[in-house]
Amino acid sequence: AALDAHTGELVDRREAVLAPSYRLFYAQPLEFVRGAGTKLYTRDGDDYLDVYNNVPSVGHAHPRVTAAIAEQSARVNTHTRYLDASLIDYAETLLAALPAGLDTLSLTCTGSEANDLALRVARHATGNRGVLVTRHAYHGVTAAVAEVSPSLGGIDALGAHVQLIAPPVGDGSAMVQDARRAIDALVASGDGVAALLIDTAFASDGFVAPSPGVKTALAELARLVRAAGGLVIADEVQPGFGRLGPALWGSALHGLEPELLTMGKPMGNGYPVAGLAARRSVMEPFGREVRYFNTFAGTPVAVAAARATWEVLHDEQLPAHAEILGASLLTGLDELATRHPHAAGARGRGLYAALDIVDPETGAPDETTTIRLVNALRARRVLISASGPHNTALKIRPPLPFSVGDRDRFLTELDAALTELAR
Ligand code: PMP
Repeated sequence: AALDAHTGELVDRREAVLAPSYRLFYAQPLEFVRGAGTKLYTRDGDDYLDVYNNVPSVGHAHPRVTAAIAEQSARVNTHTRYLDASLIDYAETLLAALPAGLDTLSLTCTGSEANDLALRVARHATGNRGVLVTRHAYHGVTAAVAEVSPSLGGIDALGAHVQLIAPPVGDGSAMVQDARRAIDALVASGDGVAALLIDTAFASDGFVAPSPGVKTALAELARLVRAAGGLVIADEVQPGFGRLGPALWGSALHGLEPELLTMGKPMGNGYPVAGLAARRSVMEPFGREVRYFNTFAGTPVAVAAARATWEVLHDEQLPAHAEILGASLLTGLDELATRHPHAAGARGRGLYAALDIVDPETGAPDETTTIRLVNALRARRVLISASGPHNTALKIRPPLPFSVGDRDRFLTELDAALTELAR
């Protein structure tokens, strides 16, 4: 269908001025002018249920977060070269809630910068260059992290210092086998092993739920990496801050104790604040030689956003809510999968779930059908997307205040959209 005049004009003007790398969601792109909780609103006042956006983790436009940002920016905004009690308070609180041994914090503006810094530190600490990442991982946009983001494809081809391993699906033995081969290759090439960089939700690999088998496989993976002289970097940009439940971090669920842990997206509920937590022993050699100053990172306004987000997360008990609501959502998805031939199966933990969309005839991942489904849900005012190796894992990752009513609305619309597909 043709776009309405207003939308068509915006799309044309945008294409004329924005760089060609930008992509819009949907055949019928959306423009939102307001958000609240789990809903986004168009100019016409139509409400869309947000089942996709994990950044506004404590809810769109949360009044406590917006007030904290407004108040601090009305008072003063400087940078990390002046003393700031609020930054120290926040670092103390955050570090106390992180996996054992992580006792220093570096602030950045984005997850990409956090991963970029983690790689620099790991290379510095180990004297090695090689990195292991999962086969469809995404770790960000800088030159260095784009090289360890196979999901980007294209010209950011992985360097010889990057080795791919399977995500820990099944019993995880394929991953461990890959890791042995990858480490041998890095040692043979002279790069050596600087780090395993691993998204503990395996988001771009299509999501892997924590389980005892995954935990065992990841422990063996970490052991192999450390035996080769490398460090473990947990990328908690997706799972961190309670998305997967009260454990707060994917690392905690997996029993991983990384030397370096990166975080971002939900940290400031949309304000750009991200960071790297690390062991002092790993950071110290780097810190002696390298000055790290990131202009906009860890400013008083950034800290106000992060602190307010943290307080809301805990005061509203959102990680516990995510665990309970997520379990019932998964039950609902499993039930849909038994009735709809296009839905092969679901997995999830907390408020992160994936539903695999397949061709009913062959059982193979079906990207065309997934795109139809995503657009059909948009027509039903439900926002969703897909990821995974074939872009066929429906990515279910709503703001954490997702209510019982939101769950039921989503399952009802998904049920109807899946029924339409079969026609
Ligand atoms: N790591 C992971 C696992 C991510 O999902 C992302 C963002 N999608 C990043 C890193 C990069 O974060 P940012 O976009 O804030 O640079």
